[in-house]
Amino acid sequence: MAKTCAFKAEIRQMLDLVIHSLYSKKEIFLRELISNGSDAIDRAKYLALTDKTIAPEAPEWQITLRADATAHTLTVEDNGLGMSAEEMEEALGTIAKSGSKAFAEALKAGEETNIPELIGKFGVGFYAAFMVADTVTVESLRRGENQKPARWMSAGDGEYTMDEGTRTVPGTAITLHLRDDQTQFAEEWTLRDLVRRYSDFIAYPVYLEVEGKEKKDEERKPLNTMVALWKRPKSDVKPEEYEAFYRQTLRGVGEPLKVLHIAAEGTLEYRALLFIPKTVGMEMLMPGNKHGLSLYVRNVFIGDEIEELTPSWLRFLKGVVDSSDLPLNVSREMLQDDAIIRKIRADLTNRVLKALAEMAKEKPEDFETFTVALGDFLKEGFHSDWENKEKITELMRFKNLKDGKFTGLKAYKEAMPEGQKAIYMLTADTEQAARQSPCLEQLKAKGYDVLFLTTPVDQFIASELYEYDKTPIVFADKGDLGLDEDEKKKELEAAKETLQPTLDAFAKQLEKTVKEVRLTSRLTDSPCCLVQDPEALPPSMRRMMEAMGQTVPEEKHILELNPDHPLIKAVSAETDETRRVDAIDLLYGQACLAEGTLPPDPARFNALVAQLMSR
Ligand code: ADP
Ligand code: MG
Repeated sequence: MAKTCAFKAEIRQMLDLVIHSLYSKKEIFLRELISNGSDAIDRAKYLALTDKTIAPEAPEWQITLRADATAHTLTVEDNGLGMSAEEMEEALGTIAKSGSKAFAEALKAGEETNIPELIGKFGVGFYAAFMVADTVTVESLRRGENQKPARWMSAGDGEYTMDEGTRTVPGTAITLHLRDDQTQFAEEWTLRDLVRRYSDFIAYPVYLEVEGKEKKDEERKPLNTMVALWKRPKSDVKPEEYEAFYRQTLRGVGEPLKVLHIAAEGTLEYRALLFIPKTVGMEMLMPGNKHGLSLYVRNVFIGDEIEELTPSWLRFLKGVVDSSDLPLNVSREMLQDDAIIRKIRADLTNRVLKALAEMAKEKPEDFETFTVALGDFLKEGFHSDWENKEKITELMRFKNLKDGKFTGLKAYKEAMPEGQKAIYMLTADTEQAARQSPCLEQLKAKGYDVLFLTTPVDQFIASELYEYDKTPIVFADKGDLGLDEDEKKKELEAAKETLQPTLDAFAKQLEKTVKEVRLTSRLTDSPCCLVQDPEALPPSMRRMMEAMGQTVPEEKHILELNPDHPLIKAVSAETDETRRVDAIDLLYGQACLAEGTLPPDPARFNALVAQLMSR
């Protein structure tokens, strides 16, 4: 009994856009269908490892293209896992894949030239068939016991029909009735050319059968060479081939930043093809997000998103690992504490770090791209990957005060002027805020450079940065900068005596908000500034946690006064009690603003400023 159903709104909208798009490379539909066939064979082979009913006949796994130039049809057939009626409906019809809507939106936003990338990104490859076909029929018989065939049909017009179907051999056949202006896709030479261009490294043979052409058995040769890219010698692979693999198979976007083609030999033997992308989506920043490389064991696809193959901080990597040391019946659960997997992970991590170190040295521009796009991952690794902490430390970059360039700790240290004894850093929400911080005045006067920690990840690792290569790391807004010579110290001591009543007045007035009031030599131009209790959370971190709805314990700052500043001197000379209180509140409000937070009572602060102006 046939039933007709309406597509989910998102799918309908997407189909409409795909069909009417002016995208000229409609040919990519073929590689999508072939890759789906290959996926289905991968899944069948994998399930067959543990379930004897999946492939008792031990078939030659294959994909067949059947072209009929007179009838204007093209069929893409595979003997993979197949789909039951329910699976078919779920995969191709009602349950909208979350990608459809996003895909449609990207298309509407005019990203038409990126159709192949978008298709990959949102996992809507099957629907590309409608770019060239006015009807698509899917006939399938699921592998396994007691399965019934199923058929799905649609003209891409908002509806699809399902009925029992007639397929008798396991697998799936997708038949396209080509649009009048797309009939070249039923022609032999077009198909040969397309398979070679787009699907050459598909691991299963792709055969071509042309209607009306006699089949000679000895001439039956696959259109593709089938050698997995990572199995080929490195010297043999062209950059375009890596890129095609990156985009088509791994669903990478744009060009990769760096390709690592690994053939490990010796005690640990494996092959791998890894790609460092140029950018990653926001979702990647969430450590819980699915990620991981694909794993093959002796040509059998075990699975993708194998998280065990890389440390979590390397989750931006895309690629494939192929090992012949693992047992074929390895399950996902077994991977978790498999010694070989652990060794591969350590080796891969090492190689990636080495490649990055090389990039930093030889291709600084590429390394800057890496720093901007993926530097936060590296810093996450600094926090979590103890074994590689030193190597990672060398690769971390921070914007500096001197020229706003990304600077590593090594370069910073090498450029330190004589007499500078510490590496100075400052956490702030933005580079601009950091630059304007009054805490830097004395450092600027000395001509010392400062590294800025401005991303949430930077601030997260700040507490772990206390030393580099035997040089202490000092935060410009915490504690003592260690810059004062004995003479300066004596001066401060002397100033303290005369200014003690002023310090007391500040302390009394700000009792509720400030932990301590003291004199400083940190400042040259500003009257005062807020510094952190060395144990306290950085203010930006605190705001972030508050924004995430977490309760953060109340922490008081330290207020530092510049004894040489005329305003501080004026407060100390003030005899009128009210005016002194107002001045203290004004100065404190300014210090808050300089640090990037609001004064405790913004309305009062405003009123005081207005009063001051009217005077
Ligand atoms: P993706 O391949 O990214 O999942 P597609 O739109 O290409 O997205 O395919 C959608 C789904 O349809 C697949 O995930 C799979 O479940 C099913 N499918 C498509 N083609 C086949 C096939 N030849 N054999 C079995 N299942 C298939
Ligand atoms: Mg697909």
